[in-house]
Amino acid sequence: MNLKKELSVINAMEPIVIQLFEEQYLKERTLACGCDKCQLDILLLTLNQLPPRYTSSQAGEAYIKALYLNPQLQSDILKVLTQSVKVIEDNPSHP
Ligand SMILES: [Zn+2]
Repeated sequence: MNLKKELSVINAMEPIVIQLFEEQYLKERTLACGCDKCQLDILLLTLNQLPPRYTSSQAGEAYIKALYLNPQLQSDILKVLTQSVKVIEDNPSHP
């Protein structure tokens, strides 16, 4: 199998988690520390706890949109995201 770049595999959870994180935390400016490092740590911690939802980059947009509009999935992600924010805020990887 010779996959072209435009047919690559993506994890649909990635854009969804980023979008929810932006809406729930970055817009409201509720983070104790909003530096790039803490933001990335929160995203990584969240994504590592959620099962990936793979799709092809070609079919991706519609698939991601449908997933994003799933209220059950949104609330599952927000639960993990809220925990991750707390973990990183309590233990930032910088002084
Ligand atoms: Zn920070």
